Amino acid sequence: MKRRAFIRAATLTAAVIATPVLRAARARIVIVGGGFGGSACALLLKHAQPSLDVTLVDPDARYVTCPLSNDVIVGARSIDSLTLTRAGLARAGVRFVRARATALDAEARSIRLDDGTRLAYDRCIVAPGIRFLWGTPEDYDEAAAETMPHAWEAGTQTTRLADRLRAMPDGGTFAISVPSGLMRCPPAPYERASLVAEYLARHKPRSKVLIFDANNRFPRQEAFTTAWDTLYRGRIEWIPVTEGGAVERVGARTNTLHTASGAHRVAVANVIPPQAPGQFALDAGLASGHGWCPVDPATFASTRVPHVHVIGDACIADAMPKAASAALSQARQCAAAIVASLAGREPPPPALDSVCYSALALDRAFAIRLRFRVANGHVEAEPNASEADSTPSVAEREAAARWYRSIRAAAFAA
Ligand SMILES: Cc1cc2nc3c(=O)[nH]c(=O)nc-3n(C[C@H](O)[C@H](O)[C@H](O)COP(=O)(O)OP(=O)(O)OC[C@H]3O[C@@H](n4cnc5c(N)ncnc54)[C@H](O)[C@@H]3O)c2cc1C
Repeated sequence: MKRRAFIRAATLTAAVIATPVLRAARARIVIVGGGFGGSACALLLKHAQPSLDVTLVDPDARYVTCPLSNDVIVGARSIDSLTLTRAGLARAGVRFVRARATALDAEARSIRLDDGTRLAYDRCIVAPGIRFLWGTPEDYDEAAAETMPHAWEAGTQTTRLADRLRAMPDGGTFAISVPSGLMRCPPAPYERASLVAEYLARHKPRSKVLIFDANNRFPRQEAFTTAWDTLYRGRIEWIPVTEGGAVERVGARTNTLHTASGAHRVAVANVIPPQAPGQFALDAGLASGHGWCPVDPATFASTRVPHVHVIGDACIADAMPKAASAALSQARQCAAAIVASLAGREPPPPALDSVCYSALALDRAFAIRLRFRVANGHVEAEPNASEADSTPSVAEREAAARWYRSIRAAAFAA
């Protein structure tokens, strides 16, 4: 081969080899949803491979954390202390687009935004959290949520419930309605009951908390009920579904909860509606028949739409709770799997965990720490998951505060 022809052939070969590698290094990653899962994943991807083109889409310039929002309801914290900006994303080199994603075109590999623009992706991560199934209980809609706040998304709803508690007359009843089905942070209604009971004991001693529950059991029930007996004897009453606990209908005008056992007019009604993944996940065809989004737990890749991953509350992660700590752990696994796949490597073995702290009073909490393994394509809790964590202590409440600081840093660089 003549020298010039050889050089041209060699250059071409190098280009053919280098192009996919270069393209992978600069791959366009679009993330829908900037909560704990989506925001953490954006930071992790950019940290693992700074050359990636990472864009995060969320309609809100600020994010208010649900963790510690029960403290706001009882006046122990301000909502501002839970409010985060997107500045950490910008510092890390993630592009933040303030918009709502409205559609996913799997063939064109693009996301449409509510302002009409399209974002093309090589990989998309969908983390839109939850939506509420309005109309359950009957007549519980967005208008009813103004007088009977759910406070299951932090922000205005949280402060509204806090205002209602403060304005409640002594002797009144604070009612919490808990839905059936998969929900975010399953222990949180019982944490809320505990903190409200503590507040009532101090400020409205003739008042009590009623929990109308559409379930027959709840997480760490023994730990909660033992603590309630010692700390708040007679102040919290739990009504399971078998005793008419399921709220079937609400009367927002009169603050009435209708159950199989009759009509209960209360001073404050905190109605938590049933939940499903964020609307975008449903519209994008990521949800399965029963509502949530199936994924491969080694990569969090959707089993329904190629090149799309689903993390956080919206995905089906079997034994993993719908919690911020789980969303962070999934973000880690998902980011590592994407970086590996772009480099043509296998995903790392799953290393999934979660920790949920439940406050029983402002100065004590217990923890639920779990590790998970993947067996036959499903996420299972490791059998050595410790019940010993359920002992309430001051030390665990301090650990909760440290955990909160560290997850804010990991997910929002805040
Ligand atoms: C009272 C309460 C207390 C809790 N306490 C704890 C706790 O102590 N520890 C813990 O680990 N977990 C706790 N949780 C649970 C935790 O808040 C959630 O599990 C966590 O927020 C899930 O993260 P996510 O990223 O999946 O969703 P989210 O945090 O809900 O974020 C979803 C984001 O997606 C955005 N979005 C939605 N649709 C679109 C769209 N179409 N386009 C663009 N963006 C979109 C939203 O604006 C939002 O920013 C608590 C929950 C509650 C209700």
